[in-house]
Amino acid sequence: MGEFCNTVSHICEVTVAESQERVEAAKQRYQEERAKRLRSDGQSQYHELSEFDGLDVDPWVEPGFTREPVVEDDLTAVIVGAGFAGMLIAKGLLEKGVTKFRLVDLAGDFGGTWYWNRYPGCMCDVESLIYLPLLEETGYTPTMRYAPATEIFEHCQRIGRTFDLYPHALFQTEMDTAVWDEDASKWRITTSRGDQLTSKFLITAGGILHKPKLPAIEGIQDFAGRAFHTARWDYSFTGGSPTEPMDQLADKRVGIVGTGATAIQVVPQLAKAAKDVYVFQRTPSPVGVRANEAIEPGWVKAQPPGWQRERILNFTECVTGGKPEKNLVGDGATRLLWEDTQQEASTPEESARLDALDFDVMQGLRDRIDEVVTDPETAEKLKPWYGKHCKRLCYHDEYLQSFNEPNVHLVDTNGKGVQEVSAAGPVVDGVEYPLDLLVYASGFEVTTGLVSRLGFDPVGKGGVKLSERWHDGAHTLHGIHTNSFPNLLVCHFVQAGFGLNFHHYLQELTAHLTWIVATVEAEGIDTIEATVEAEDEWLNLLWSIGKGFGRYAVACTPSFHNSESERTMASARNVAHPGNLMHYVGYLDRWRDEGDFPGLTVTSS
Ligand code: NDP
Repeated sequence: MGEFCNTVSHICEVTVAESQERVEAAKQRYQEERAKRLRSDGQSQYHELSEFDGLDVDPWVEPGFTREPVVEDDLTAVIVGAGFAGMLIAKGLLEKGVTKFRLVDLAGDFGGTWYWNRYPGCMCDVESLIYLPLLEETGYTPTMRYAPATEIFEHCQRIGRTFDLYPHALFQTEMDTAVWDEDASKWRITTSRGDQLTSKFLITAGGILHKPKLPAIEGIQDFAGRAFHTARWDYSFTGGSPTEPMDQLADKRVGIVGTGATAIQVVPQLAKAAKDVYVFQRTPSPVGVRANEAIEPGWVKAQPPGWQRERILNFTECVTGGKPEKNLVGDGATRLLWEDTQQEASTPEESARLDALDFDVMQGLRDRIDEVVTDPETAEKLKPWYGKHCKRLCYHDEYLQSFNEPNVHLVDTNGKGVQEVSAAGPVVDGVEYPLDLLVYASGFEVTTGLVSRLGFDPVGKGGVKLSERWHDGAHTLHGIHTNSFPNLLVCHFVQAGFGLNFHHYLQELTAHLTWIVATVEAEGIDTIEATVEAEDEWLNLLWSIGKGFGRYAVACTPSFHNSESERTMASARNVAHPGNLMHYVGYLDRWRDEGDFPGLTVTSS
């Protein structure tokens, strides 16, 4: 009996030597597959949606919306973004007695990601009970362990209503300018709706996955059929709705570019609706068992106080190698990520052990493909060859199965991706695939510059722009404060903590941000601003604790997780605090306890 039994596939009959051989062979294959995907253009291989006519339209609002401009000169905070982060900040401020604030968002409602993403099959891939904010406070029980997107969006609206956030919101509004007025010690803000807002704090909570990107494929603009990004799904073309089958695709040939977490959810729905579906794959995703199930109505109200926080903390421990006594969620994510194989190994034996554990999970997922997909050639092409932390592990009970359907065709590009689109459709290896609809499941900007993702360029002290100060990547204390930009609070994961459960990391970060605003107000402070020394110290700390994680990421196949394998100063600076989110939170807790804002210059009049 071998030492390394596969916990996913339950294959457990190889010797230790055979096991090590298989691990080494896999590592070799990982490097070969990675090499196929390395490209010199890194993150610039993608375009912004707005560069294409008609692709960046909000499908969820009536055209022609107008409103009177808002002029307010005594705000405590302007929060950019009304997704989970913006809502949690707003609720936290109200609880702390801060009532003069505005939320600005391009979307037509609360929800952020869950406002924009309404593609068919869209659902939460982290358990709803820990992913949906404020369940205990709202008393809401999600219907399913992995709730559909429509339900999550409705929950966002519920939060907006329950905590009376709507009166603070300026929707369908884009930030135009934000300029620090040194004399007044305030931010002067203008928007696309003519608003003029003057505020003590500017809080950017613009999200992580809010700016869709398109592959810069030759001829992409020449495609004569309908095309859209998954975050702008056009049901007027496909028929149906997020909750109803797409009834206008029965005679249509549909292509989808991309096979990430989004495509995994879309493909089964297209398979049910379209005449033919062509899945254009550059890199396959690992897909584990989902086993979604209904949650008993009223479950939430029957729980003891504090249950959600306990479950959230437990999940974070489980997926970052904390190995708590109990695994409360007990799902695929907690089992597959139980061992943190990215950590720095102290001995060659430890390194070999981590490699074997990582292989074990990925091999189990590869074995599952052979079990599910009937055509061996297709099964082989669907196998992911990289480490388990390189990309998001996906879970679905219909995606792999779709490839057994006669109308679903995998077009594998052997790591090269679609490189040409003609008026008729994508061309791969000289074969043209004529299509009626081409869906881009090509993801979002994640680690590009903050300014590009925010869509405006804050101007700080001395007229310096954030894009100038951060031309070589982020400069922050804790990912939040930045020199030359007093009272700017950045709510993002760059140089901050992070977690598989986005809600958890936003919960921690937003609680800290609202503490800062309320404390500054209570203590009569005018401005807070990071010192350059504190920024440098913080970055050095991140680099020192991130060595193991950095080494792991460098060996990964390119993706947004490792800035498409770019080796620039910006990608080196735009890192997150690795590992367990609560370790990052520990820094914030200790910092608050010190009481005098260490690392910040504080002014009071
Ligand atoms: P991803 O960035 O993960 O995927 C984009 C896909 O497009 C990749 O498969 C990429 O290939 C592919 N691609 C890019 N260019 C080409 C090309 N020229 N030809 C063919 N394929 C190409 O975006 P997603 O929208 O899938 O997911 C983004 C994130 O959104 C996830 O990681 C997850 O965090 C989140 N998400 C969360 C969900 C939830 O339920 N909570 C649901 C869905 C998404 P390659 O891999 O080679 O780069």
